[in-house]
Amino acid sequence: MGIDDTDSPDGMCTTYLATTIINELKMNKIDIVGFPRLIRLNPFARFKTRGNGAVSFKIYLDNDISIDLIKKIVISNVEKLSMMDHENTNPGVVFYKGELNKKIENYSFKAIYSIITIKEAEKFVNEIGAEIHKFKKGRGIIGSLAAIGCPLKDHTYELIGYRKKENFGVKRTINYDSVVLMNKKTYPKTFENIDNNYIAIEPRTPCPVLYGIRGEDPEILKTAKNFLKVNEEMDTFTIFKTNQHTDMHLQKIDKIDKMEKYGSYIVNGTIIDNPHVIGGGHVFFKVSDESGEIEVGAYEPTKDFRKTIKKLIKGDQVQLFGGIGCNGTFNLEKIKILFLNKKQILKNPKCHCGKTMTSAGLKKGFKCKNCGFKLPNGEKIAIIEDRELIENSYYETPTSARRHLSKPLIRMKE
Ligand code: ATP
Repeated sequence: MGIDDTDSPDGMCTTYLATTIINELKMNKIDIVGFPRLIRLNPFARFKTRGNGAVSFKIYLDNDISIDLIKKIVISNVEKLSMMDHENTNPGVVFYKGELNKKIENYSFKAIYSIITIKEAEKFVNEIGAEIHKFKKGRGIIGSLAAIGCPLKDHTYELIGYRKKENFGVKRTINYDSVVLMNKKTYPKTFENIDNNYIAIEPRTPCPVLYGIRGEDPEILKTAKNFLKVNEEMDTFTIFKTNQHTDMHLQKIDKIDKMEKYGSYIVNGTIIDNPHVIGGGHVFFKVSDESGEIEVGAYEPTKDFRKTIKKLIKGDQVQLFGGIGCNGTFNLEKIKILFLNKKQILKNPKCHCGKTMTSAGLKKGFKCKNCGFKLPNGEKIAIIEDRELIENSYYETPTSARRHLSKPLIRMKE
């Protein structure tokens, strides 16, 4: 079954709702198979609350298990816990009985790569014979079905710890030093833990989540959890299998003009203007190939990543990783330098005494302030400047600005 669209910026979290359901099923002696799954869908979906995540889990049905009881537990919890009062909370639940197939898998990819309407999702649900439960507009069925069908060839895990109800909305007090120690002991098998002084495992919203630790396998997550010190008792925790940090949203594409709005891609091109800063510190540049050109943005939240981007120049060839938002700009998540153009700068000549000469005035050449030597016909000297960037290297946005789906370089095997 899949569940989505139960939360709002004011509270709740679909993973918490799933945890509550799974625990109630357990109390009724019904166990889920394997790990529940947290599936991140298109990061550009319009009605997402935060990270566009949906949840799914599976139960093997045998004669002793009552499907009606399972459905009752799921539906009643969605009804009870969803943030129904919020305009943009439109929960949807999908129950699918049977084997998954390529068609359902393709639907899931569509939900990651592009935009799906409620009508389209509903039509597809009917085609495959699944059962839907819509609450209000029921938009959640789009993500619920995608979470059921999403294949997880590459995957990671997230251990999500939940707060006791009385602490919902209260400021979290995760001990910074304990996160540093946890990171030291478990990175890179866990990742996205900390970014300078920013505790990345801690949400900044009033949701029931105390923290989320992300990593390569469930065991390392449990080890990591034991290092953490928090000034409140945790209610419960669940480990989710997830497509987070797999780059599953990126489609490799050979032409810039084939890219579409709200899609995420890996594409090659040549920089056609030097990066420049606009507005609140966003850095933009244009990239082209024989099919067309696109504006690329490294936005202010990407912090020091922008310093790297500013070092690029016209003529550099790059591979871009990211997606196209509503304004048509390519939001950069990481970049690979394929070729560095020569950066030539013109410098004043050096005097034989060792000092750099200064201009002697318009068309009067250069003079040395140290020894008085003059070069009336002297010209500026062309120098090839060190580029600081390295060809065939990748550069990425910092943890604090990373998308849930973005694969950090530490996970990239090439
Ligand atoms: P959180 O990360 O806190 O769980 P969220 O960001 O996942 O919240 P939701 O409240 O789940 O946000 O809302 C996302 C909505 O967008 C859901 O209704 C989901 O069905 C829908 N959705 C997901 N993917 C797509 C898509 N590709 N096209 C259109 N709608 C989508």
